[in-house]
Amino acid sequence: MKALVYHGPRQVSVDDVPDARIEKPTDVLVRITSTNICGSDLHMYEGRTDFEEGRIFGHENLGEVVEVGDAVDKVAVGDMVSAPFNVSCGHCENCEHGLTNYCLRANEPGMAGAAYGFADMGPWPGGQAEYLRVPWGDFQCLRLPEDAREKQDDYVMLSDIFPTGWHAVEMSGMKPGESIVIYGGGPVGQMAALSAVTRGAAQVMVVDRHPDRLRLAEQIGAIAIDDSQGSPVDQVMEHTKGRGADRGCECVGYQAHDPQGNEDNADTLNKLVSSVRFTGGIGTVGVFVPQDPGAPDELAQQGKARFDFGNFWFKGQQMGCGQAPVKRYNRHLRSLIAADKVKPSWIVSHDLPLDQAPDAYKHFDAREDGWTKVVLHPGQTTSGSGRENG
Ligand SMILES: [Zn+2]
Ligand SMILES: [Zn+2]
Repeated sequence: MKALVYHGPRQVSVDDVPDARIEKPTDVLVRITSTNICGSDLHMYEGRTDFEEGRIFGHENLGEVVEVGDAVDKVAVGDMVSAPFNVSCGHCENCEHGLTNYCLRANEPGMAGAAYGFADMGPWPGGQAEYLRVPWGDFQCLRLPEDAREKQDDYVMLSDIFPTGWHAVEMSGMKPGESIVIYGGGPVGQMAALSAVTRGAAQVMVVDRHPDRLRLAEQIGAIAIDDSQGSPVDQVMEHTKGRGADRGCECVGYQAHDPQGNEDNADTLNKLVSSVRFTGGIGTVGVFVPQDPGAPDELAQQGKARFDFGNFWFKGQQMGCGQAPVKRYNRHLRSLIAADKVKPSWIVSHDLPLDQAPDAYKHFDAREDGWTKVVLHPGQTTSGSGRENG
């Protein structure tokens, strides 16, 4: 089968690799019809992780079931399914408690949590490929309604970024009628904004510096805060009568940098602490890592940050962090999409066949204007329906 393979920093190609196949009776084999390039793929693409050469990217996957193992009971051939990016067994202690983001069986012993095509998250090949093996298929696969094919660009967001954005808002503790500031207007930040709007926020602010992203945020009723035009903390204070936002979300991660390009892994965290009111809450879903050998300074190389804990403590704030337990949310978010209450595909800028993925990575990695979210469609050919959305 064809798959997008990592060959070293900023080197990927679509190669012929052995077909994904049923290996255990509980497996489901999915023919991938939609798979996203994610911002967290870029950490690996840029060589800022220990992702191994020869592995396949892709953890935001949707497709059609083409084969099921003998022990699969619920999922059937022909079903359109969303596969959560968290690989999880469903019956370990953590999974039983709903913590599928920290499954104890899907990674090596001593590590909790796994994902498809992801550094340090187990051996699972990614889905930027024609086929994907989904282990523990009955537990993993979320079946999609009859409009799954027409609304693929919406449903494909269920595997990661929509639940992840929702989780950021959840961890912030936001209640209806509160204000919230979201640092990072990339795909996850946009989903956090959509989630906050859907959950009844009185005021949603999105901080970024890319005009295309700020425009997207405004399209769903958020206030765009351009941090290249002045301190984002001051701008949040102006919008909140000097009080600060009730809640905040970190949707950038460890490669955070200021508008001048200076990288500082604590930049967004410290600005959040300053932007959020006394006793407010923060949800951090941007990726941070225990080691970062490619970091510009020694502290960050050890996975440490100059976090303003004094101010955080003084303000009595709370913070939740970590990857999202997709299964906690994806069923309900699917129903919101099915009922046309939300349309997460508004951020999609490009629908492309798999063979254009290497080029798409280049553009997305460079944060080129107009490349806000790329959905790859492995079944399609270049001469087919490559689409740049206006
Ligand atoms: Zn992702
Ligand atoms: Zn488990």
